[in-house]
Amino acid sequence: MAAKRDYYEVLGVSKSSSSDEIKKQYRKLALKFHPDRNQSPEAGEHFKEISEAYAVLSDSQKRQLYDQHGHAGVDGRYSSEDIFRGAQGDFSDIFGGMGGGFDSIFESIFGRGGGFSTRQQRGSDILYQTTITLEDVLNGKKMDIELQKQIKCNNCGGSGCKPGTNKKTCSSCNGQGQVRQTRNMGFASFVTAAPCPSCRGQGTFIETPCDECKGNGHKKGVKNVTFEIPPGVESGDYTIPDEGNEVSGGYNGDLIVRVRVQTHNDFKRDGKDIFFDQDISMVDAALGCDVTVPTLEGSEKIKVDSGSQPNTIIKLKGKGVPQMNSRGRGDQYVRLVVNIPKKLSKHQKNLLDEFKNSSD
Ligand SMILES: [Zn+2]
Ligand SMILES: [Zn+2]
Repeated sequence: MAAKRDYYEVLGVSKSSSSDEIKKQYRKLALKFHPDRNQSPEAGEHFKEISEAYAVLSDSQKRQLYDQHGHAGVDGRYSSEDIFRGAQGDFSDIFGGMGGGFDSIFESIFGRGGGFSTRQQRGSDILYQTTITLEDVLNGKKMDIELQKQIKCNNCGGSGCKPGTNKKTCSSCNGQGQVRQTRNMGFASFVTAAPCPSCRGQGTFIETPCDECKGNGHKKGVKNVTFEIPPGVESGDYTIPDEGNEVSGGYNGDLIVRVRVQTHNDFKRDGKDIFFDQDISMVDAALGCDVTVPTLEGSEKIKVDSGSQPNTIIKLKGKGVPQMNSRGRGDQYVRLVVNIPKKLSKHQKNLLDEFKNSSD
């Protein structure tokens, strides 16, 4: 199979496009390639491709996974049915006016009667909290953490059976995992299927449990996980797929990294820009001066013009922080705070009086 194309490229949008722009663009392409309207043989495949791209990019969580990890981040976690199902409301919205609606779109993509596969078991997510500095936001931060979590038992390979033994088929349900019950209600009878109580719906049971995991197939353990907090990060939750709790015979949960960016002593941050207040004396403001201001990487000399007014802003281009998913850096804004002396010596007072008289 050919390598999957970039979702943004497929839709012809940019990484910074808003969800409205993406929806608009998808709608335009979808109407062009919709199988009901376009009979060319490639249209069907192309329609599926743009629809998948839209289903991912219109869902903020899936879009974040895709931005962070590319196709691997999304495909490792969701089946294509899950991806399309998640965007069902959106598709209905877009195609509602065409009469077909979501179900016919879905059928045209997956074939009639495809249905949805039942969800496999999934390990639970793990929350990991960390605090980083504004300097870390500039460069990103490599993390190497020890995570306590449920890990697949390697003694039994996750089966839960003592090595050398196997699961036994449940005789109550003949391995079906469910039992049928007929209930009579008046003149009608209902047949319902319920999970088999003997094997709790598994169809099999463990006769001789593994000593290490007591038959669970997984056990508490410690795993080293390395990941990178990307430059430009803001406080919030970020998902590392598959690094959560493991469960036998199912998907791993995710690791949710909750990042808090510490307040900086010198700088305030707003997105990719940072702000700094620089004190100068009224004399320096009047005469002009050179002043050295701190930056995230060190310091920078700036020139204060003569006659600078209080709250004048001086911009240091490119001295802010990066922004996730976009190029370049923001700027640093230096605000001049002009200090008026609260106490004057006799001599200073005389000089100011002289200054006053000279300007009259
Ligand atoms: Zn085991
Ligand atoms: Zn059973």
